Amino acid sequence: MRPSLLNPLFAPIGTLPGIGPKLAPLYERLAGPKVVDLLWHLPSGVVDRRFSPKLAQAPAGKVATLIVQVDAHMPSSSPKRPYRVRVSDETGFAHLVFFHAREDWLRRQLPEGEWRVVSGVVEHFNNDIQITHPDHVVPLADKDKVTTIEPVYPLTGGLTAKMVAKTVRGALERVPELPEWQDAAWFARQGWSDWKTALQSLHQPPSEQAIAEDGPARRRLAFDELLANQLALMLVRAHMRKLKGRPIPVSTRLRPQVMAALPFALTGAQSRSLAEIDSDMAEPLRMLRLLQGDVGSGKTVVALLAMLNAVESGAQAALMAPTEILARQHFDTISPLVAGAGLRVALLTGRDKGKARQSILADLASGDIHVLIGTHALFQEDVAYADLAFAVIDEQHRFGVHQRLELASKGQAVDMLVMTATPIPRTLLLTSYGDMDASRLDEKPPGRQPVSTRVLPLARMDEVVHGIGRAIGGGARVYWVCPLVEDSETSDLAAAEERHRHLEQLFGDRVGLVHGKMKGPAKDKVMAAFATGELSILVATTVIEVGVNVPEATIMVIEHAERFGLAQLHQLRGRVGRGAGASSCLLLYDSPLSENSKARLEIMRATEDGFVIAEEDLRLRGGGEILGTRQSGLPEFKLADLSIHGELLAAARDDAALILSRDPDLQTERGQALRTLLYLFERDAAIHTLRSG
Ligand code: ADP
Ligand code: MG
Repeated sequence: MRPSLLNPLFAPIGTLPGIGPKLAPLYERLAGPKVVDLLWHLPSGVVDRRFSPKLAQAPAGKVATLIVQVDAHMPSSSPKRPYRVRVSDETGFAHLVFFHAREDWLRRQLPEGEWRVVSGVVEHFNNDIQITHPDHVVPLADKDKVTTIEPVYPLTGGLTAKMVAKTVRGALERVPELPEWQDAAWFARQGWSDWKTALQSLHQPPSEQAIAEDGPARRRLAFDELLANQLALMLVRAHMRKLKGRPIPVSTRLRPQVMAALPFALTGAQSRSLAEIDSDMAEPLRMLRLLQGDVGSGKTVVALLAMLNAVESGAQAALMAPTEILARQHFDTISPLVAGAGLRVALLTGRDKGKARQSILADLASGDIHVLIGTHALFQEDVAYADLAFAVIDEQHRFGVHQRLELASKGQAVDMLVMTATPIPRTLLLTSYGDMDASRLDEKPPGRQPVSTRVLPLARMDEVVHGIGRAIGGGARVYWVCPLVEDSETSDLAAAEERHRHLEQLFGDRVGLVHGKMKGPAKDKVMAAFATGELSILVATTVIEVGVNVPEATIMVIEHAERFGLAQLHQLRGRVGRGAGASSCLLLYDSPLSENSKARLEIMRATEDGFVIAEEDLRLRGGGEILGTRQSGLPEFKLADLSIHGELLAAARDDAALILSRDPDLQTERGQALRTLLYLFERDAAIHTLRSG
């Protein structure tokens, strides 16, 4: 159970003062559903309002807080002209300028003859001093509230800077004193303050430097987050290690049969990875291994050959994919390969209902099904296996540790193979998988053609469409991926639908559309039509990202490529270049491109090596490119930024290892404090692996 001390932080964000039912959804969109999410919503800058010159000394372009007397109101003479209020001090006068003003309100704020504190950006206009829409207008008594360093928060539509700043102040009042979980010596060496003080100094910064990303307060919180992350991964890992495994010998009967049915020989990397998995499975320990390999590097075959070990030993294997499309595709690949060996493979997704589902479940419970492939339907409550010994999780970053544990709980001593097609830089590998054993498929199957990539402005759309028309006339098949729109699946869809209509007008019924909101059967129908060649162009939102295999597709068009993360572009591009034909990828961007985006697209043009792309992506990823991070599916840190706090990660890992070597069940006083840390960062699943609370 989460310590009650933390309850105020985990209350719904709507319980904060000033947030009513109308604003709650906006705050949720801005920060998240809980109070703590708002505390993690850090200022992106500050406005220093301490500068309080006389009017005659107020320089243009600077924020100043002025003490002035209200001389006269000058209502606007027409709706287009602003409302002006003349103010003065002993050195001169100025105008406060308001567009679309409400006179009664302004007269109450700025009564003629009275003194006011006014803060805003000073402008010089035709030799006059003016402030357009001052940020603050308060009576003299409140001067100290204004002449501060004000945090500036990233906003979302419908929320103003003032509202957010005020709500954060309310959230800060709910922050409890927490027991210190950091090691005292390390902590002192870093010159850090306690958690609460650090948090306060980020939200109520005493100086601009106080909010610096590499400043002590931010580093402290980043380290907290990284420590929670590393500790959680290690706890889960230790838990898995403690559990007994069962030795499963290498298949000697089924594997040769299936290998003989393969139309190709394994690559060196595939053989090496398979041998690593074999040796893990043969140990009486729980296997937890990551199989990393670019799209098309042949992970599925490796997983299948490993599954045969479990089946031959009399047990069952399961393969879990993140989407129905992908699960079905694995099923279609695997079924024919094992048919000759007499294995029974079944598919189970959320779509299977009623009798069909019951019959699969019955055969699974009796052991008649040897290999079950599906989505997270695989570990639903009423799914019981006769004897599950081996589980493969494809595209693991879409699943949490929690789901991994749930699937494992469906069997006895389940060996686990986690597959990912996202090439993960070494630093990030640590954050997503901890010290999980890893095998890399760093060699593509022979015969793959390189994909030639071009980067073009969207302005050349007509030309592109013309070229596509020629290509499909010659029999080509084309993926057309539509722009990712920030935070909104609905507008993603609108963009894709619009492009679909556009292309349909030109190419008629050779154009199909697939998107995430479509129901399974409808989606499959479109995908199948594209696979058979009935459709030549498949317009898609990013649902095709993971694992669709149509070897005949040779052209990939990506609109607004600058909005995608590099890892995602790489995944998308991997959809082509899978067959014998020469393939190309067109990255269309919206001009003008920032330097950073230019550099990123240039990397895509220059290389197809997923690991190089991943390292460069991490290096180049600036604060403005968070969208890409989110889309890549890698764990998102709220406070730590690995391009800035990368070195803290290694320290957090070492610290976590030391902690667990001394206090494996987090029982000591510091151990208890660390439990609070884990709850604070919502690593509850890791705590549940501990024996007692
Ligand atoms: P991944 O899951 O890593 O994206 P897949 O396992 O789906 O890749 O393999 C992609 C394609 O390559 C499949 O059609 C598969 O049959 C084929 N393939 C796998 N291994 C080899 C190999 N060693 N030689 C030739 N083709 C292979
Ligand atoms: Mg795959």
